[in-house]
Amino acid sequence: MATLLSGKEVAAKLNETLAARVCALRNSGVVPCLCILRVGERENDIAYENNAMKRCEKIGIAVKTLRFPTSAAQGELLESMNAINHDNDIHGCLLMRPLPGHMDDNLIRNALHPQKDVDGITDVSMAGVYAGTGCGFPPCTPEACMEILDYYHVDSTGKRAVVVGRSLVAGRPAALMLIRRNATVTVCHTKTADLPSVCRQAEILIVAAGRAGMVDQAYLTPGQTVIDVGINVDASGTLRGDVNMESAQSVSAFITPVPGGVGTVTVSILARHVIEAAQRRLLSAHTSSRFPKHK
Ligand code: NAP
Repeated sequence: MATLLSGKEVAAKLNETLAARVCALRNSGVVPCLCILRVGERENDIAYENNAMKRCEKIGIAVKTLRFPTSAAQGELLESMNAINHDNDIHGCLLMRPLPGHMDDNLIRNALHPQKDVDGITDVSMAGVYAGTGCGFPPCTPEACMEILDYYHVDSTGKRAVVVGRSLVAGRPAALMLIRRNATVTVCHTKTADLPSVCRQAEILIVAAGRAGMVDQAYLTPGQTVIDVGINVDASGTLRGDVNMESAQSVSAFITPVPGGVGTVTVSILARHVIEAAQRRLLSAHTSSRFPKHK
């Protein structure tokens, strides 16, 4: 039987450290604050928003929410983002996507200041992941995958890693992060030939396809570590990952469950980014007061 890599355990450990960091910030007069921007009433967005609010509040992070109807004009959203960029009390902003079809996703996501881009949606943050420069913030989900690997001491150096999915929010940045961790990485998508055989070659398999139960015994080999990013609601309303749990449990060595896996760690990573954004701002305020610019 595979060993479960509990995301809840990883998140609980993270939350302890994060709460201590918030305490220190509050003692310096800074209350870290996340602003959540949501357009429309998509169930997934509302669920993520509720989880993020609960987790942040538990850790001591303040949360503001701005909600727009699906019919909102793009200009309204851009105005709010401009206000967020200039609001010194807000340290991070989470913009729920995808946006409605009449909005220009590239324009809107890049309107956010990279210093407040706590879910890695701007081109600057993406370049930071690509080049490893630490500009902006990486997307929370792939960072959560890495956090799980670290917590359970899964060393990726020299390992064959396969990532299923190439989206900008999950698969692609996960692959880049694995490369930085010295894995030899293959990225798969809908045009990959013989996906099961490619997946069977993986020592670390990260699945972010959004297809409930797609990865079954045919994709798995003994000894693998499997990270299931998928969050899918099946016809009966049950939450399911991309990996067929029964197959994985009988074949793989380690597997993250859904729920209680990557998703729960993702929310804590979001909280960590807000705290980091607040700490970066505090540091730059100290630096500019110690070294005032010459007029
Ligand atoms: P997405 O934008 O739809 O991307 C899915 C990717 O998987 C695409 O690259 C697609 O290939 C590939 N794919 C889909 N079906 C495939 C198949 N049958 N064989 C091979 N590749 C396939 O989805 P996403 O935003 O990355 O999300 C993926 C999943 O992760 C969803 O279930 C989502 O709910 C979940 N998610 C979880 C978290 C979390 O915190 N746990 C966060 C974000 C997303 P093409 O590029 O060829 O289309």
